[in-house]
Amino acid sequence: MKILVINAGSSSLKYQLIDINDKKVLAKGLCERIGIEGSNLQHTCVEKGLDKIKIEKPMKDHGDAIQMVIDALIDPEHGVISSMDEIGAVGHRVVHGAEEFTDSCLITEAVMKALEKCTPLAPLHNPPNIIGIEACKKIMPNTPMVGVFDTAFHQTMPPKAFMYALPYEYYEKDGIRKYGFHGTSHKYVSQKAAEFLGGDPAKLKIVTCHLGNGSSISAVDGGKCVDTSMGFTPLDGVPMGTRTGSMDPAVVTYLINKGMSAQEVDNLMNKKSGVAGVSGVSSDFRDLTAASKEGNKRAQLALDMFTYQVKKYIGSYAAAMGGIDAVVFTAGVGENDAATRKAIVSGLEFMGIKIDDEKNNTRGFVDISAGDATVKTLVIPTDEEMMIAIDTKRLVEGE
Ligand code: ADP
Repeated sequence: MKILVINAGSSSLKYQLIDINDKKVLAKGLCERIGIEGSNLQHTCVEKGLDKIKIEKPMKDHGDAIQMVIDALIDPEHGVISSMDEIGAVGHRVVHGAEEFTDSCLITEAVMKALEKCTPLAPLHNPPNIIGIEACKKIMPNTPMVGVFDTAFHQTMPPKAFMYALPYEYYEKDGIRKYGFHGTSHKYVSQKAAEFLGGDPAKLKIVTCHLGNGSSISAVDGGKCVDTSMGFTPLDGVPMGTRTGSMDPAVVTYLINKGMSAQEVDNLMNKKSGVAGVSGVSSDFRDLTAASKEGNKRAQLALDMFTYQVKKYIGSYAAAMGGIDAVVFTAGVGENDAATRKAIVSGLEFMGIKIDDEKNNTRGFVDISAGDATVKTLVIPTDEEMMIAIDTKRLVEGE
């Protein structure tokens, strides 16, 4: 079966066409500037090994964008299918599924209504996801569609992990609680880790570290998420590229009392903080490492703050699960930044976590544990699109 995976943003739309039987990407691409001047589609036919092409054409809405994607996929030269009918199902990434969605699900009218109900919790992200689904349904009315939620994997957290100590009615009336994000990535790498480690997956205790521009850590016990570092929004947890991560919430009221508006504080904490804000250099870990090598102390401080917090999460999640079998690193920083991985795990030897420097300097899916480590440390490239396609097939085939 060929599955089209769609990740719709407000003015962009990413896609991959995946042959799920062979777990192979046939084509992929991105529509940019939907609804604004300069709309374009960038498409790569992976199957034929062709270079990326860029087509500039006005796209007034997501419907136009999806039509262009389909045209590119059936194009005799750059396409990989002869007609739209070859697309067996569409998997849509949806950011927030709240408590409504504990797993991916087949999209029905009732699901569309439930999705609307989740929108207040993700006012920037869910509306474009919904528009993407509606545009696809219009063009492919007979193709089954599945919604895959960033929050769903974390719905197995127990109340003691997801509740905030506000008066209970704030949870009941406003849905204020920890939801967690990057769930599709945590699910994918924890499943890959369990396959690699072998044995009884129900007994495995894994800490997955998704470290990219946005970062989150999850505790996965027996294949189920029991805790995660992001919260009500993706602002919580470790410091990120431009986000603060956790801090005393009283800082917010202090800044508002000093005269900043709620909107300004929100902007400050989400867009101007994190390692970029501390270093004054960049949100990109490559720039921070280069600046630190040249003696920039604030760049080194930003890196130290990041690695210290990730280390603390690994320790606390091992405590929460009563043990740990493996630590998994994934995403841009987790997959590529050997020095940051090393800084995170150094000092955790007392827990049995120890890496081999030579293995740590390699790329791809790799076990970087030292020979005498009792806890495995793995680098596993994440693949959220593949996870979406896997879930889409599972639901469409009713497995
Ligand atoms: P996103 O959260 O936007 O999906 P990614 O997971 O793609 O982000 O991670 C992007 C980040 O990964 C970059 O901002 C950069 O900090 C980091 N990164 C990518 N490659 C490297 C590398 N070779 N060394 C260090 N950091 C890297």
